[in-house]
Amino acid sequence: MSAMKNKKQFDSNKLDKVVVEARKNRENREAGYRERALKLYPWVCGKCRREFTRENLRELTVHHVDHDHDNNPLDGSNWELLCLFCHDHEHSKYLEHSDFGGESGNKVDEATFSPFGDLKKMMSDKN
Ligand SMILES: [Zn+2]
Ligand SMILES: [Zn+2]
Repeated sequence: MSAMKNKKQFDSNKLDKVVVEARKNRENREAGYRERALKLYPWVCGKCRREFTRENLRELTVHHVDHDHDNNPLDGSNWELLCLFCHDHEHSKYLEHSDFGGESGNKVDEATFSPFGDLKKMMSDKN
């Protein structure tokens, strides 16, 4: 009984170690490409052209052009420096795009989409 308990204890310790290790690797890798991108590119937001200095460099983020954080070519071709605001915007744009099924072809026709269409109908039904 106690042997089993010990084994379980050992396994979960091992798992914790693996998780910590993986997280550390990820952080190292992220720090690696961020540093490299900041060396490669001028400290300017690629969208709004806001300039950054050492003081506010935290607010300048490294965006992955193809949204694949594991795609880090050393020539920087998949990186774009963006301020926090533009980075957020870039990601919400990407999410919207995939929500409306860019690849599956189920596009929402914005010209005919009217959020008040039903409301109008309801009101005219009442009258
Ligand atoms: Zn910006
Ligand atoms: Zn990004």
